[in-house]
This record gives sequence, structure tokens and C-alpha cells, in this order.
Amino acid sequence: MSSSASIQNRPTTEPFEYQSVEVLKGVGPAVAAKLEKLDIYRIQDVLFHLPLRYEDRTRVVSIGSLRHGQHAVIEGVIDHAEVSFGGRRRRSLLVHVSDGTGAIILRFFYFNKSQQANLSKGVRVRCYGEARFNNRRLEMVHPEYRRIFDAGSVTVEDTLTPVYPKTEGVHQAMLRNLVDQVLQRIDGEKLDEYLPQDILHDHSFMELSQAIKILHHPAPDALPLLEQCKHPAQQRMIFEELLAHQLSLLSVRQRIKKEQAQALSLPQEQSNAFRQQLGFELTAAQQRVIGEILYDMSQLSAMMRLLQGDVGSGKTVVAAFAALAAIVNQQQVAIMAPTEILAEQLYNNFSNWFSADACVLLTGKDKGKARKAKLKSIADAETLVVIGTHALFQADVVFKQLVLVVVDEQHRFGVHQRLALKQKGSFNGVTPHQLIMTATPIPRSLAMTAYADLDYSVIDALPQGRKPVATVVVSEARRQEVLDRVANACASGEQAYWVCTLVEESELLQCQAAEETASALQQALPDLRIGLVHGRMSQQQKNTAVEHFKQGDIDLLVATTVIEVGVDVPNASLMVIENAERLGLAQLHQLRGRVGRGNKQSNCVL
Ligand code: ADP
Ligand code: MG
Repeated sequence: MSSSASIQNRPTTEPFEYQSVEVLKGVGPAVAAKLEKLDIYRIQDVLFHLPLRYEDRTRVVSIGSLRHGQHAVIEGVIDHAEVSFGGRRRRSLLVHVSDGTGAIILRFFYFNKSQQANLSKGVRVRCYGEARFNNRRLEMVHPEYRRIFDAGSVTVEDTLTPVYPKTEGVHQAMLRNLVDQVLQRIDGEKLDEYLPQDILHDHSFMELSQAIKILHHPAPDALPLLEQCKHPAQQRMIFEELLAHQLSLLSVRQRIKKEQAQALSLPQEQSNAFRQQLGFELTAAQQRVIGEILYDMSQLSAMMRLLQGDVGSGKTVVAAFAALAAIVNQQQVAIMAPTEILAEQLYNNFSNWFSADACVLLTGKDKGKARKAKLKSIADAETLVVIGTHALFQADVVFKQLVLVVVDEQHRFGVHQRLALKQKGSFNGVTPHQLIMTATPIPRSLAMTAYADLDYSVIDALPQGRKPVATVVVSEARRQEVLDRVANACASGEQAYWVCTLVEESELLQCQAAEETASALQQALPDLRIGLVHGRMSQQQKNTAVEHFKQGDIDLLVATTVIEVGVDVPNASLMVIENAERLGLAQLHQLRGRVGRGNKQSNCVL
């Protein structure tokens, strides 16, 4: 996508949908810059910025009928309000509300004097939020609320309320307002239709304009279909998106396959010598995929291969063989990880295998002189193995002879980033080979669709002696049993993770929840050494916590989903995931992959 500047320079006689968002009310250069973070540049992008989910604010739900996890509008009268001093240094305002069918507590960690005065006994409030059971009592944490002066005086919404992906400085209300402005302007007009008529007809797809309108403001009864992504409006958009994705990947592949790569061969002796120093036998599956990769790399056209292997299946060592093929030919390899923790772990692995002098770690942490020195050793090809985070994409990172790009834990990187790194090696008409590694369990057919630009290898067996992680679902009511289990495991020398899941759209609240959980757990389990990692900590704090855990100085690591990828602590054999229902299957799978990395039987409690 080009920058907004070039868009503004175009004549405004263009069709409305292609004009800059700055033609909308309330959007000046500052807001436009923020919208760019959401990839919104033109009116069309506003229309295609589709809701993540919907809220049903079309009816008031009785408190007595609320289920755990349900998002709902409720209305009731405040019975009393109190400030509680639970936990370490944290006050919260608890507002007890009932409606004749049941009672609920509204919990506020942040509140000011006037809010406190507003939420007093006898006041009628209407709230929207997520109902949750906490110590067997129903709660809403930081619900939206307003005071109601006559019962029944405030109307509810007519259509489902869209919840959009947002970014710092761009709030839901603003996004809703922009969408509504655009929908009003295009009312009655047709948007450019990209799907050919015969496809629309054969699949009985609705027209683009209609689908877009419905998706921004669906009728209340559409909710069940929408939640399953089965609404005809969604289906039409999904089809279009997949088709576009597929076509663009195929065109990338076609282009790259035409490009010349350096043919790299790995002599048998060197391969054997490397194998012997590993300290374990490669599995048959590892040997097979190493063969596939080395074959690709020995060709004159660029490898583009996706390596899928379950967490713990040993993808890193496979990548090391690919790297070895570059190194023995005195060429450079770039290995990229999505987080600093993971990049550091890869760096440790590769330094062990290839010596620390052969490797350099480049992350956002490197500044000033140290960074300059690293960049120089990369530019002069003094260092052949370059490991890093997205810092490797930056323009000042110049390789002398990059012939292989390895991207680990692919689900965190987009196609664009992949291409950006590849570009770094494209000089003198030579393109680097690419190896993309993921643990996301995707069926082959889906892999071919999602990654149409890639060939596909899979490690379909775990190293010997690994036992599958036993996973159980336990209800909140049995929390004490879970605590006992953690205590017992740690008492017998094992280590455990306690994962706090995302409170939607609020990293801050999530980190707070993790802090509170950590202090609550410390009270409940005073004998344990408890550590904490979450996204609001500095990278150094995070790394220190993980390092302590790795060294065995911490028994129980309380964490947010920041530990999702790559943390490798084989002695950790128990993981507790709170509110696991908030996570998608792929994410749960990733998280659970943090245990079961040693030879012990591991357990996961959801
Ligand atoms: P992932 O596929 O999740 O990236 P890793 O490459 O981190 O997995 O490997 C997980 C652990 O298994 C590491 O400690 C690694 O050294 C070890 N490992 C890899 N291959 C084997 C093998 N063939 N036999 C025994 N252990 C292995
Ligand atoms: Mg890995």
C-alpha cells in the first residue's frame, strides 16, 4: 500500500471509495496517521475494516440468567458499593447491583471520586460487559455503564454493535462513526465488484455492497450465524479474501521460481560430523525433511518451503542443517524469530552448534556502538549466522552474501515481512532460499491454500521418549484442587506455568490480572518461589524472569500469553491455563507446547 501522501495528491474527482479518509469529518492528518496503523488509507479501507465480533446490545438480559463468559446488557439498582483492599497495593471499587432475578458485582480497578459518588446505593445503572464467576460470585470487571433515571427510559440498539480491531488513539466510537459516515455516503451506490459475475451467480453470493452493509450493522437474529462465520455476507467476503490471497501468493511464487538462487551442497562428511556432536539421534522424520530441504537448496532456483512440525518435534535442528549448508559454502544465513526471548534461545542453540563466534544476535535491544559493530560484521560477512527479531528487516541491516532465510514460528509473521527479508538477499540476480517453520497444526490441504507460495514438509513424529501432554478441563469451582496440584508438583522438584489469558483489547488489564494472580498465588502457596512475566515488563525483565525459571530458581512462572512461543524449559511439566476458553485452538496448542519438552509425563489444566 502506498503512503497517504501519494493518495492525497490524486485529484478528488475519483470515486468516493478511492478517496483518502481525510475527506471524512473528524479525520485530519493526525487521525489519518493513526488510521494508517490499521492499514486504513482510503474510504474503501474503512469499509473493509470489518468487525472482529459483535455485541448484542439489542436487549437487556436478566442478571439471574447470565452465564459465565457471556457479554450482555444488564440493568439493575445498586444495593451498596464498597472499596476493597484485596491483593497487593490494589484497591478496587465493588458495586453490588441486583435486578430481582439475581445479583452481580461491578469491579473497578480504576475509579475516581466522581465515579464513586455516582455509583451509590439506590442508583439505577445499565451496564455492558462480560459476566464472570469469581469465587462463585458473578462479576463484571470494568463494564461500560450509565445511570438510568427512569426504568425503561433508555432504548436499546436496533442492530448488533460491531467491535472493530483498533489501535492506540483510535477508539471504537471513532471507528463506528467513520463507518457510519461512509455507509451514509454510499447509500444506494454500488461498490466496484471484483468477483466475476459467473462466480457470484454460481455460488449465489450476495453483492459486495450488500455484504459490507450487513457486516457493519447486522440484525440481532444474525448473531448465531455470524459467530460461526456462516453468515452469507461473511461467506462471500471469505471467498473473495481467499481467492485474492491465493492469487497473490501464486503470483509471488511464479516470480520467485523464475529467480536464480545459489546452489548449495552440503558434503556428507560435514553433515555427519555435525550430526555426531548433537548428543541425540535424529528422528526418521527429521532426517526425511532435512533431505527435502537440502535437495531444494542444491538447486539453482530458490527454495520456498514450509516446515510444519508440532511443538517439540525438533524443527530447530533441522534449520541448523540448512544453515550448515550455507556456512560450509562460506555464505550467510538469517534466522528470524517473532520475539526477543525466542531469538535469544535460537542464538543459544546455534552458538552451541556452530560456536559463538560464528553467530550474531540482532534485536531491538541493540543500540549505538554495539549495534554498529554487529551491523558491520554482518555487512562484511565476518559472521555467517545472523539471528534476530523483526530488527533484521530494518533498512540499515545489509548482508554481504545472504543465501538462506529461516523464519521460525511463522504464524506471527505476514507475507509482507517475509518478502522484505528476502529482498535483502536479492542482489546480482540471486535470491536466498527460504525456510518457514511453524508449529500450527494445519492440515495439508489447508497449508497448500494458505501458503500457496510454498512447498511443504512435515515432521510427523516426536523425538523418542516424549509423552503427549495429558490435558484436562477443570471448573473454576475446583480451584483449590488445582492449587494443591501445583504445590505437589513443585514440592517434588518439577516446575509449572500459570497462564493468565487476554482480557480482550486491554493488555494493561491483562498484565494487572497477571500481577494479581501472582500475588494471590504467593499468598495461597507461600512455600513456592513464584515469578512473573507479562507484556508490560521490559524485555530485560522478561528475559531475566524466564532465565531464572530456566535455572530452576523459580518454581512457578505466572505469565500472560507472551510465553506462547519458543520458551524451552524441559523441566517444566505442568501448565495451568486460566479461562482457556478465551484462546483459539492454535494459540492453546502453542501454549501447551511449553510443557512436555522433557521426558517426564506432562500435564495441562485448563
Ligand atoms: P520445536 O519444533 O518446537 O522448535 P525444538 O527444535 O525447540 O522444537 O526442540 C525441542 C527440544 O527437543 C530441544 O531441546 C531439542 O534439542 C530436542 N530435540 C530435537 N530433536 C531431537 C531428537 N531427535 N531427539 C531428542 N531430542 C531432540
Ligand atoms: Mg521452535
